[in-house]
Amino acid sequence: MSSSSVPVSTLGVPRIGPRRELKAALESYWAGSTSATALLDAASGLRAASWARQHALGITHIPSNDFSLYDHVLDTSAMVGAIPAAYGWAGGNVSLDTYFALARGRAVASADACGHGHAGAAALEMTKWFDTNYHYMVPEFSKGQAFTLASTKSIDEFREAQSLGFHTRPVLIGPVTFLKLGKSADASLDPLALLPGLLPVYSEVLRLLAASGADWVQIDEPCLALDLDDATRAALRCAYDVLSRAAPPLRILCTSYFGGLNGNLDTALRLPVSGLHLDLVRGAQDLDRAIAQAPADLVLSLGVIDGRNVWRADLAAILDRIAPIVDQRGIDRVIVAPSCSLLHVPVDLELETTLDPELKSWLAFAVQKMDELRIIGRALSEGRGAVREVLEASGRAAAARRASPRIHNRTAAARLAQATPDMAHRHSPYPERRRRQQAQLGLPHFPTTTIGSFPQTDTVRKARAAHQKGTMSDAAYDTFLHQETEAAVRWQEEIGIDVLVHGEFERNDMVQYFGERLAGYACTRHGWVQSYGSRCVRPPVIFGDVFRPAPMTVAWTCYAQSLTRRPVKGMLTGPVTMLQWSFVRDDLPRDQVCRQIALALRDEVADLEQAGIRVIQIDEPALREGLPLRRAHWKAYLDSAVACFRLAASIVGDATQIHTHMCYSEFNDIIDSIGAMDADVISIETSRSKMELLEAFTSYRYPNEIGPGVYDIHSPRLPGVDEMAALLDRAQERLSAGQIWVNPDCGLKTRRWEEVRPALVNMVAAAHRLRAAQ
Ligand code: GLN
Ligand code: ZN
Repeated sequence: MSSSSVPVSTLGVPRIGPRRELKAALESYWAGSTSATALLDAASGLRAASWARQHALGITHIPSNDFSLYDHVLDTSAMVGAIPAAYGWAGGNVSLDTYFALARGRAVASADACGHGHAGAAALEMTKWFDTNYHYMVPEFSKGQAFTLASTKSIDEFREAQSLGFHTRPVLIGPVTFLKLGKSADASLDPLALLPGLLPVYSEVLRLLAASGADWVQIDEPCLALDLDDATRAALRCAYDVLSRAAPPLRILCTSYFGGLNGNLDTALRLPVSGLHLDLVRGAQDLDRAIAQAPADLVLSLGVIDGRNVWRADLAAILDRIAPIVDQRGIDRVIVAPSCSLLHVPVDLELETTLDPELKSWLAFAVQKMDELRIIGRALSEGRGAVREVLEASGRAAAARRASPRIHNRTAAARLAQATPDMAHRHSPYPERRRRQQAQLGLPHFPTTTIGSFPQTDTVRKARAAHQKGTMSDAAYDTFLHQETEAAVRWQEEIGIDVLVHGEFERNDMVQYFGERLAGYACTRHGWVQSYGSRCVRPPVIFGDVFRPAPMTVAWTCYAQSLTRRPVKGMLTGPVTMLQWSFVRDDLPRDQVCRQIALALRDEVADLEQAGIRVIQIDEPALREGLPLRRAHWKAYLDSAVACFRLAASIVGDATQIHTHMCYSEFNDIIDSIGAMDADVISIETSRSKMELLEAFTSYRYPNEIGPGVYDIHSPRLPGVDEMAALLDRAQERLSAGQIWVNPDCGLKTRRWEEVRPALVNMVAAAHRLRAAQ
């Protein structure tokens, strides 16, 4: 790393590979069709390619140990030997078998290659990584938890890169963030109390890295972007006091991302580290104070390229902001970086050969972002003249995007401006609506329904793929989907479900389906981002004003309704979820984008009602996960989320029943907002918690109807009638009988018909039993 130019880093890069090679390697290993060696070879091939690519693109601080076979938090649990007793780990290096047991569970008792017996065990709990759509495996600590070095992955991968000729900056999750992300079955155990026992392992890792030749190590403490109490701030000081002395020549870069440091800025600036990374995309407000207060010899890593979004940067504008800092501090006191690891953006825009060229010229995926970082670094080191053409091109693209007619739609903008608060109100309060809905729908007590999707079987997936490839004609595909839908409707009628669904066979994904039909949205072919383990998602891109050129779901819903006299529920993905699971334009406030989506959905709701659909469900599974990291921002977010939902829903008459659906395990923080959404019926995931999650609704005295899930659709296990009836009894202890609907926890698309059929038959039987007992 020469000192005559500004270093450039990535903080971390996508691991899955440009064509999801890691997914293929993992899944064939799990299926038993390839060996561990084949998996490990594929993984090292991906690492080598990624280091080489970064090197070729001019990255000077190339990360190592940012790769993971499953999850980097799980890697950290393995590194420090935080392996719960249930996994039968007997010390030593954590084996691949134990690692995947932690990640995915171990179905039955088994013996490993050395003949050690293993009991069956569930996977570690998984939860969202800060406010991203990446999920990590939650570390589990026990009382008297001891830590020991049980995986040398960070050192091995540093050396692996070294042997290929790449000098890397190893990445570790910081000890304080690691502890804070963990949990313990024993409520009296404060994970932070484990810090003294954890630091010796970290110190040992740092010593081994230094001995192997590392000069910088990147230690990620994204907890700095959260609201922290004094104890956590003290823990950070204590941790870095110890770590900075562990292997003195090794320089520590402490990184925080996903938001500003705000009240934690002083703490961060005073840590005894050599470098501090700042997220200047979300935490731009920190910069002036950081510059004013940073010790003169602290290296500042300036996170100027957005690691959370896919927009091409305006490089000249970034240079205007940071060039004075470089002039003031000197080029050896600055590193150019993305705001966070590039893990959260797709790999390479060049693979998008069918994307509209104009839109493409506004985008940057990980590879393109690396190039932007290099250009910034060069401009800072050699002067802007050295990269004039590129800077001009980036400025032109930014100007063209601002002025493009594709982004701005007069009608959409006018509708947004004209939306009035009364549009977000139903005609009558809930008790009156309930009377009218009962009169129109005539449903029994404990009405039964499902959440929307039915199994996406191999046949369905194959037909979709064939249609996409062009080997199945539009007409043949259409006939196929009609047959699937008809069969699903007939079967629901036969087993006696009260409110039917059409089954969502025509949908690839609940967000993409609508993204493909709304103006202002674009979908990519290869824009995959890791969600967890081998699972990836392909978020659509919202690039312009959103509106609905034509009805999106009316034909399928009406077809299903034409087959039966029972009500068929129209199924829509709500505005907040559409926003949350997309890459969102950065030139309009998010709440405005959300309102545009709400207005587009409102049109759909109106058309469904007009077409005679009497029940409409607007799914909002992502509502809670959109909660900002800092509590101070919660109210603004929730108010806007509620307003958008209501804007989409409130166009219908009193007799039309609006449902919503949410599936995650915590309602306490958002129960006021759920109440304010005022959906006539909400279905939620509750079966695993044995109805305990209803507590929030009980204490709130939630007045509208609720379908607490009685069938855990995440498990292949068949739920029995007794079991579901018992869950409904528990629900009756917490809600009034007239409020309760009977439904599964979530959509059934991931299950097989052989599982779904008997489960729903049992569910209907459970509802009948409750009706009879009335
Ligand atoms: N209607 C969707 C389905 O059934 C809802 C999915 C979800 O909640 N994530 O698949
Ligand atoms: Zn769900």
